[in-house]
Amino acid sequence: MYLFKSRLITLLALSLFFICFSLLSLFIIDAPQSVQAAPAWTSASTVSDGVPQSIGGYASGCLQGGSLLPQQGSGYESIRRYRNRYYAHPATIHLLEDLGREVERAGLLPMEIGDLSQPRGGRMKYGHRSHQSGLDADIWFGGDPAYREGEGRQRKRRVKRKAKSKRWSAKTLRRALFDVDHPSAVKGWRETLDKKVWSTRHEQLLKRAANRPEVARIFVHFRIKEKMCEVYRSESKARDDTARDDTAREVAEEQTLWLRKLRPWYGHHQHFHIRLHCPPGSPECDNQGPLPKGLGCEGLEWFSKREKKERKRAAKKAEDKEIARRATLSARELKALKVAEAKEKRVRSAAAVERQELLMRRCRHLGPSR
Ligand SMILES: [Zn+2]
Repeated sequence: MYLFKSRLITLLALSLFFICFSLLSLFIIDAPQSVQAAPAWTSASTVSDGVPQSIGGYASGCLQGGSLLPQQGSGYESIRRYRNRYYAHPATIHLLEDLGREVERAGLLPMEIGDLSQPRGGRMKYGHRSHQSGLDADIWFGGDPAYREGEGRQRKRRVKRKAKSKRWSAKTLRRALFDVDHPSAVKGWRETLDKKVWSTRHEQLLKRAANRPEVARIFVHFRIKEKMCEVYRSESKARDDTARDDTAREVAEEQTLWLRKLRPWYGHHQHFHIRLHCPPGSPECDNQGPLPKGLGCEGLEWFSKREKKERKRAAKKAEDKEIARRATLSARELKALKVAEAKEKRVRSAAAVERQELLMRRCRHLGPSR
């Protein structure tokens, strides 16, 4: 009896050990994967040596020999420095400093420049998918004095009152106050342009930035694009009234480029996002495709929250329909469908692996050990 008991105990102890071991190994296997997901250069705290180069794509790349944007300069201020994302290719820094000087000469309020890239670029832990190759920059719209002294002051008071009654942490309060100082340009479920926030200064700033030849695209909320289309139409009408000959028309045609560069995209109602072309001397830099034809002023509602929700609803309906269709398939048909799906999945994951390998080959040398 005693022997039986001791064997049972040994058996129990052994199984417990195996369970623990398998659980532990699960974590161990999982760990290198998550480490692999964040390549070494993405966490470097300093820029790398080497000639400045933007490598790879905006959403899958890195930055060699980056420069930093000084905290302050003519016509601009670099904000949220604690995020350590004020590095970029020197071409980007040059553009921002030059744009700042232009802003100052025009007597506009200084620009507030937010995230550029990490010291050696790469994917960030939070906040963006792009901004990886030192060619993206966020500029906050910010409130004008009229907003700050009126609406802004009221909002600030409301926020402080709420913070007190809800016992917000200092961090939450700081974030909310940042949002008051950098208000959304749109409001309500219809996402209309907020006239208390939006001003001609924002229009001028966007137009000046888009007119720069180094700039490939600027991402803005669709209501802002809509507004800029309006601005363009009123300007071109004034031009057409004065310019009758063909050359003048051609010039006018060229002048549409700035408007075409403004691309509607989700978010981008508190800040706009400047994207530069690949600079010279960066042979491994991948440009985004060319701008779509036309001014891009049609069908902007596609980007609205309302239409996005409708699309989601339609997709869900289509999915339900597909499930019902599958239920009517024969076992052979279902098997063929599953084989085709598995093949598609393999192709997709092979492409992802290839992309990751290319990125590693191009950027590995920027690891922090350098
Ligand atoms: Zn951005």
